[in-house]
Amino acid sequence: MAGYFTNILSGTKSLLVGLSITQREFFKKPVTLQYPWESLEMTPRYRGHIQLVKDGETGTHKCISCGLCDKGCPSGCITVKGEKQEGVKVKVLVRYDLDFTKCSLCGQCIDNCKPGAIEFSKEYNLASTRKEDFYYDLLKRLKEQK
Ligand code: SF4
Ligand code: SF4
Repeated sequence: MAGYFTNILSGTKSLLVGLSITQREFFKKPVTLQYPWESLEMTPRYRGHIQLVKDGETGTHKCISCGLCDKGCPSGCITVKGEKQEGVKVKVLVRYDLDFTKCSLCGQCIDNCKPGAIEFSKEYNLASTRKEDFYYDLLKRLKEQK
C-alpha cells in the first residue's frame, strides 16, 4: 500500500516538473525559424561562394581585371576576362565566372585581391540537383543585386 502512494507522489512530482519546464519555455523567444519563409542572418565569418563587392561610391565593382584571383585559385574555378576599351586606361572587366562545384572556400582568391574586389557571400540556400546551377556569372549577379 505504501508503494502505491509513493508512486502517485513521484508521478505527480514529475508531472509538475514537466509542466513548469513547458511553461518556462513557452514564453521564451523561439530558436527555430519558419524555413523557407524565414531565413537566418549568417555570421560575419560565414563563407558562402565568392562574389564581387559592390563599390558604394560608383555602384559597380572594384575589380581591375588583374587575374591574381584566377591564377591563385588552387581549384581553377575562376575565369576572369578584361578588355581594353577606348578612352579607358585600365582593362575593363567583361566576365567574372565561378565554377562553384570545384570551390573549396579556401579564401586564397580573396587574399590575393589587393583592391578588395571580392568577398565571401552569405548565400546558403544553394541546394540543387543540377550541376549547371553552380556555375555563376558574378558580374551579372552583381548587376542584379539591389
Ligand atoms: S575560395 Fe579558394 S577554391 Fe574557391 S574560388 Fe577562391 S581560391 Fe578558388
Ligand atoms: S577580383 Fe581582385 S584579384 Fe581578381 S581580377 Fe579582380 S582585382 Fe584582380
